[in-house]
Amino acid sequence: MENLNPYQITQKLFDKAANHLNLPSWVREVLKTPQRNVSIDFPVKMDDGSVKIFTGYRVQHNNNRGPYKGGLRFSPEVNLDEVRALASWMTWKTALVDIPFGGAKGGVLCDPSKMSQGELERMTRRFTFQLRDVIGYHVDIPAPDVNTNEQVMAWIVDTFSMAAGEGVFGVVTGKPLHLGGSHGRTEATGRGVMITTMEALKDLGWDNNKTVIVQGYGNVGSHAARLLNEKGLTIVGVSDRSTAVYNPKGIDLKKLDEYIAKKGFIKGFTGGKHISPKEKLLEMEADILVPAAMENQITTKNANKIKAKLIVEGANGPTTPEADDILTEKGVMVIPDILANAGGVIVSYFEWVQNIQREQWPYEVVVAKLEKKLIPAYKAVIALAKKEKVRLRTAAYIIAIGRVAESTISREIFP
Ligand code: NAD
Repeated sequence: MENLNPYQITQKLFDKAANHLNLPSWVREVLKTPQRNVSIDFPVKMDDGSVKIFTGYRVQHNNNRGPYKGGLRFSPEVNLDEVRALASWMTWKTALVDIPFGGAKGGVLCDPSKMSQGELERMTRRFTFQLRDVIGYHVDIPAPDVNTNEQVMAWIVDTFSMAAGEGVFGVVTGKPLHLGGSHGRTEATGRGVMITTMEALKDLGWDNNKTVIVQGYGNVGSHAARLLNEKGLTIVGVSDRSTAVYNPKGIDLKKLDEYIAKKGFIKGFTGGKHISPKEKLLEMEADILVPAAMENQITTKNANKIKAKLIVEGANGPTTPEADDILTEKGVMVIPDILANAGGVIVSYFEWVQNIQREQWPYEVVVAKLEKKLIPAYKAVIALAKKEKVRLRTAAYIIAIGRVAESTISREIFP
């Protein structure tokens, strides 16, 4: 049976890359182990007057290169192993793109689609209050992830600031612009997906006349789709939790966005054929596939059926190691998550720097700085993969683990 436990998958990916680095065994153990696993059960007043207990996690994987950094998700699938995996991926991501952060992740087990704004606000505020000694400007900085957004970040800023007795904007990134947010942050992960895709097109010798399927038309997926479309690529398939839509002639993204703005989901959109079950979308004809929803979407069950020759992982952990083997065998180029979706954390870092400097940089400056960080990271991964004759994912991990190991070895073990 294919192992779908994301934490065990990260350990496997770690070992594979660490074998290339000849690391002392104590360094391997230190880097594999999350430094802190926080689990909180907390009560929230619901609209009907009842009180419900929610469970939330914050896992701080490693801070040897800088403060812990990573998103906060609200989802019915959240569990400690998922959060631990996501936290370690943040450590490797921040190291790969060489920003002075470590890795963390948080999540609350809930179904936001069944909660009112008021319930979500009270849940966010209570969780933040109980996390107040764990997060902080120079300690651990959350950001948006699945089902969390600027509004959730604003509630965190406000709650944390109330507890601190001063305005602490830099405690999270992905804030609204008028509250210390950065230009270009909302679209940054999608922009990173677009940038790495365009670099890959050059490497593959492809022109821009290519078709794309995007699984998960949320923050990452919708911006990636729009920006790729602006570069001349045709978006032929999109999906969300409600349905999947395919149109070989191209989906009109403006119409799709208008529809989603009204309804809140894709179901019922008439700009293409609906695919059932929605997972079949991944197997439809397209040159490029961007999984931008959840973990474990590309498995041994569908890897062989995928037609795309380029996969750009907008989501974290969308491909299982076994599926990755199949794709490698088939000659599919896979740009791994810790590279392809690093645009978000890069601009989060810029937001944090702007908060410290009490500045707001123009949009063009943010975009240029993002490219300057991400493109060299992409090129380094391609070059190392060629040199070591390994797949891009392994090359990315070798670079990232090597950097965290370097700082760990210099710091040594306290006391
Ligand atoms: P989001 O909540 O904005 O969007 C997620 C989308 O995926 C929604 O449209 C949802 O309906 C859809 N979805 C969920 N399950 C699905 C399924 N089984 N099939 C099809 N669609 C499904 O979340 P997001 O912030 O865009 O995050 C998406 C992925 O990208 C996650 O893996 C997240 O960890 C990763 N990521 C996000 C950021 C960021 O800056 N937001 C940065 C790096 C990585």
